[in-house]
Amino acid sequence: MIATAPKGTKDVLPGQIHAWRHVEESYREACRRFGFQEIRTPVFEHTELFSRGVGGATDIVEKQMYTFDDRAGRSLTLRPEGTASVARAFVENRLYAEMQPSKYFYGISCFRYEKPQLGRLREFHQLGAEIFGAGGMLADAEVICLAADFLGGLGIGGLDLRVNSVGCPSCRPAYRELLRDFLRPSYDGLCETCRKRLDSNPMRILDCKSPRCREIAADAPRMLGSLCGPCASAFDELKGHLVAAGLAFTVDAGIVRGLDYYTKTAFEFVSDGLGAQDTVCGGGRYDGLIEDIGGPGTPGVGFALGVERLLLAMESSGAKAPEPEGADAFIAAMGDGARAAALGLMRRLRGEGLRVEMDCLGRNIKGQMKLADRLNARYALIIGDDELRDGVVTIKDMRSGEQRPVGMRDAASFLRRRDVAEQREENGKGI
Ligand code: ATP
Ligand code: MG
Repeated sequence: MIATAPKGTKDVLPGQIHAWRHVEESYREACRRFGFQEIRTPVFEHTELFSRGVGGATDIVEKQMYTFDDRAGRSLTLRPEGTASVARAFVENRLYAEMQPSKYFYGISCFRYEKPQLGRLREFHQLGAEIFGAGGMLADAEVICLAADFLGGLGIGGLDLRVNSVGCPSCRPAYRELLRDFLRPSYDGLCETCRKRLDSNPMRILDCKSPRCREIAADAPRMLGSLCGPCASAFDELKGHLVAAGLAFTVDAGIVRGLDYYTKTAFEFVSDGLGAQDTVCGGGRYDGLIEDIGGPGTPGVGFALGVERLLLAMESSGAKAPEPEGADAFIAAMGDGARAAALGLMRRLRGEGLRVEMDCLGRNIKGQMKLADRLNARYALIIGDDELRDGVVTIKDMRSGEQRPVGMRDAASFLRRRDVAEQREENGKGI
């Protein structure tokens, strides 16, 4: 047990980290271009924030939260998602008093007690963004464009943008009744969860993965047919903005999203290569949330992307993170005197910002050169008795095999010059 991680958690090992960093850095860069600012909130919050904010009748609150009492008997919950926390921080720190809208992004770990499977974990990671204080559909288009540009930049193929409207508190209650009336005759055929949902949250039945429930709900009326005037025109407006921005999308009246707080816009980016867990990104508008948790009435819209699913989608569509860079130089030293000189040289080169490594297991020269290869070193700097006597290092170009002596003091500038020259060549600009 001691050497086994808890069920539903995963280590990110050094061999996988460059793909993670590529995703995280691309996201950060996309957010910079779109003018979103980073926000960081605690890993745990008062349980009430989620039971009120996320919605008591959602899967998350009913059965997926990691809730515990702390030593003083307060009920706390590991965050199952990011939006409620960001909204809480917005209210608590009175960020609504600043010029609006507010545009935030985050990268967080989330915790949900679910049945672990491919693309479904108990600790997973989300990249998210929110715009608070903008009620018009330009804000919805802005967050959708952010997600689309970020995902497009990663080179993932087979991703489909689907949009829908889930209405608002003035048109949804009547629709819910309509839906209940439609589903009630098939009550016995519904799964256990959906029988409960019939009363509390019938729209979630449209989202059930059980084949029988799907069949029953296939011809159910959809929210799109019951939108009130303002919701219908908002949806038309959104579609117009997406067309104007040049984004391809499909209207999918079946998207309901798992969280209670959504109003009007709901959207997903769905991957065709992920099987059952195919939603990479989900988002929408939640105009009631900030008021629900005690702030001034403030509209909001945002999304969250699952990093683990994103990486699976990248893999299945052949999108690759750039290869990690190797060492700039490996210093191979023979003998104690050479090793002492190597240590001094290594420290100087590292001080200049170069990535330099040497052997620390007492390997012979053949073993050291093998290690240089393994570290994908661009150059090997060889120091033996002759080099020590002449105050030079033999620099071996690991690509061409070419060797030449360079003064010990000139090694750094040699590496730098070569580096710059190579970069120019690779960019095709000549020197
Ligand atoms: P699903 O229908 O797949 O359960 P959800 O509606 O619960 O998703 P959200 O709460 O909207 O998902 O979360 C946004 C994104 O976070 C999802 O689209 C998905 O990529 C990711 N995600 C959600 N739950 C998990 C999980 N348990 N493991 C890994 N990723 C997850
Ligand atoms: Mg879920």
